[in-house]
Amino acid sequence: MIRDLGIAADRLLGLIYPDPIYCICCGNIIDETRTYGLCDHCVRHMVWDTSPPSDIDGMETMRCCQYGIYERTLIFSLKYNGKRYIARHIAEMMRDKMIHENRDRNYDIIVPVPLYKRKERKRGFNQTFLIGKYLAKELGIECVPEVLMRVRETRPMRGLSPQERAENIAGCFALNENFADEICGRNVLLLDDFYTTGATAKECRKVLMQAGPAGIGFIAFAAK
Ligand SMILES: [Zn+2]
Repeated sequence: MIRDLGIAADRLLGLIYPDPIYCICCGNIIDETRTYGLCDHCVRHMVWDTSPPSDIDGMETMRCCQYGIYERTLIFSLKYNGKRYIARHIAEMMRDKMIHENRDRNYDIIVPVPLYKRKERKRGFNQTFLIGKYLAKELGIECVPEVLMRVRETRPMRGLSPQERAENIAGCFALNENFADEICGRNVLLLDDFYTTGATAKECRKVLMQAGPAGIGFIAFAAK
């Protein structure tokens, strides 16, 4: 009898004190009501980009935040420490950015920027696919990662000038003809975790245009 009461009490306490969860950026204990899985401190220190979408080569471009220490921590934890659950929260930030810009109903399909296969195999996943999958769910649309292929590996972009970046990425992507129909006549949202000079986005856009989409927009999580 006493033991049963103990179990009941445990259950009750379990309801009052749910399992602790941790801020996805600094690891502080938070509760599940916190937006994006961030603690109050981290959410305040993220540098949110509230500027309206800009135009890059006829491509509407949205960025959620600037690439500061907090944003970098999230991207690094996702990419290099395998914390895949961060992708869901990044997708939530993208969704809110799109709602804020009144663009959440403008797109039919999401195409994430692909990684070179060998890199993806080594990491075990492509973070942009994960983010794209979650964002598509949030917006009630599809994510079609197969449509873009990365056919050539690039050297690291760090330290390169804008022109060197463009040269480095040129010819890196190809259209997968088997999936070209999926984007023909549709509004495509290209998605990447990171934005610097726009060289990657422009190159992807060029390739996607071969399939005859109605339009192409671009969203990145963090921008330099
Ligand atoms: Zn935090």
